[in-house]
Amino acid sequence: MTTPDLRLPIRPELAGEVPYGAPQIDVPVQLNVNENPYGPTPEIVADIAAAVAEAAGGLNRYPDREFRDLRDELAQFLAFESDVSGLTVENIWAANGSNEVMLHLFQAFGGPGRTALTFAPSYSMYPEYARDTLTQFATRPRREDFTIDLEQARAAIAELQPALVLLTSPNNPTGTALELQTIIEILAAAAEVPEGCVVVVDEAYAEFRRAQTPSALQLLASSPNLVVTRTMSKAFALAGARLGYLAASSEIVDALRVVRLPYHLSAVTQAVARTALRHSSELLASVAQLRAERDATVAWLQERGLEIAASDANFVYFGKFPARHEVWQGLLDRGVLIRETGPDGWLRVSIGTPDEMSAFKRALVEVLEA
Ligand SMILES: *Cc1c(COP(=O)(O)O)cnc(C)c1O
Repeated sequence: MTTPDLRLPIRPELAGEVPYGAPQIDVPVQLNVNENPYGPTPEIVADIAAAVAEAAGGLNRYPDREFRDLRDELAQFLAFESDVSGLTVENIWAANGSNEVMLHLFQAFGGPGRTALTFAPSYSMYPEYARDTLTQFATRPRREDFTIDLEQARAAIAELQPALVLLTSPNNPTGTALELQTIIEILAAAAEVPEGCVVVVDEAYAEFRRAQTPSALQLLASSPNLVVTRTMSKAFALAGARLGYLAASSEIVDALRVVRLPYHLSAVTQAVARTALRHSSELLASVAQLRAERDATVAWLQERGLEIAASDANFVYFGKFPARHEVWQGLLDRGVLIRETGPDGWLRVSIGTPDEMSAFKRALVEVLEA
């Protein structure tokens, strides 16, 4: 229902904007938002329920605003998962999804007169954080193979003097991981920005990276302006819990503590995340299977003569289709939802269960033969 005479002082840059989000369509095979297809085991469900019940008894009180127990456990988890030492609670920050973590970074380091630089195609939420914090948003194109051209990156940093550089590794929607040397060189270029520049490596898919692919976490000890973000939404199979986190110098974490809303992480969220961390090895057990399924999907798509972007994530970016929307629609008509995103001609499929991937392959064969 619309009110004819209603005048709202909506910010001009929001005029005509629509809320972000992939279509949530109820079809049998949902391979469109990079979720982990394996839900928690009954044992983990029971443990989470018990932890939530315990938290519920104290819900008349505000939660621990600094969530130090959770931060401490995240530090221990990262030390174990990526074999980095020296991380403590002062180096960890968390929020409701790494989306909110990223918003905090923009609130603390972006703002009017400041620029955030990234390399396209990349995660489609980045321009929204910039818009919402009145930060200038600049992109430079990735190469044909979706890697970053270092010369161009250095030139862009020197020219734009950004306050934030966003590197996504493995990248979404392409799956491309960055070499450590690329990140090291970009950190060096960022160190030349007179006002300072924070380099954020978004590692939402890091747990799926192939064996030889490094994590930027190992650069933290030598890089006080580096941030590495992670999430429990993908490999951890906990997208519904909304828990993202980062590791960085304590100075960066202290800046984020200033901009967060008080008590932004509910007692329930903290309890769920801490319980999930206690079960990290079971929750991450599906990662090996998903990686194998990804590599098999890549090989299968290649055999069909399609172009594939090298993937270190739990999805595959493939093309190129002269009319990708028809391919997307054809799959949807057969009950398979994937994602139409990034440069024209390409489609992204998340890795599901073996049954879901069979359904995807069957449907794609039909669509391409039609
Ligand atoms: C999915 C995703 C995230 C994670 O979002 P959450 O808010 O943690 O669910 C962050 N960055 C990228 C690039 C992603 O694809």
